[in-house]
Amino acid sequence: MRLILLGPPGAGKGTQAQRLVERHSIPQLSTGDMLRAAVANGTEVGRRAKAIMDAGELVSDDVVNQIVSDRIDEADCRKGFILDGFPRTVAQAEALTAMLDEKGQKLDAVVELKVDEAALIKRMEKRVADTLAGGHTVRGDDNPESFAKRLDEYRQKTAPLSNYYRKTGELVTIDGMQDMDAVTREIENVLTRVDSF
Ligand code: AMP
Repeated sequence: MRLILLGPPGAGKGTQAQRLVERHSIPQLSTGDMLRAAVANGTEVGRRAKAIMDAGELVSDDVVNQIVSDRIDEADCRKGFILDGFPRTVAQAEALTAMLDEKGQKLDAVVELKVDEAALIKRMEKRVADTLAGGHTVRGDDNPESFAKRLDEYRQKTAPLSNYYRKTGELVTIDGMQDMDAVTREIENVLTRVDSF
């Protein structure tokens, strides 16, 4: 099962991906997590990405495409994977199509979570409050300015992916404003359908 979770920051992609990981025993490939790990480890990629990420802007397509391509080649991705936060531009979507072709693989579904922007800002604020209450460090890009930029990047560069995947016939849109369990149920319904093709 190869799946893309599409949606703006705060739409619940990470939460849903985690649930899918448990249920289907396939890994979540979050480019945000991979980049944050690179920053934490002080790698060359991490050093270059940090300021871009903190500002809420997108890291270059070449860098993320390479990270994803390498990750997909790892053994735990053989049965499939859930892409969370990638692709984020049409160029990344095209690169993904090409890299999967080259590896002899294809996507099963692209699930888009639709949410309204006011709700996203509230969710970001809650995530910050929960993180602080748990005694953890808040993400460098979870502040009002960077979050506004992340939403802006989403509108301009990522939202066009809906059309890209609508044309390929892979897009399924789900109402991400429902409670988390209802969203999970709808995603599972989609997966049952694509599985039985
Ligand atoms: P996320 O955890 O998905 O919200 O990503 C956090 C940040 O990592 C983003 O705001 C970008 O700076 C960077 N990032 C993550 N995924 C990508 C991607 N596919 N393309 C470009 N930048 C990305």
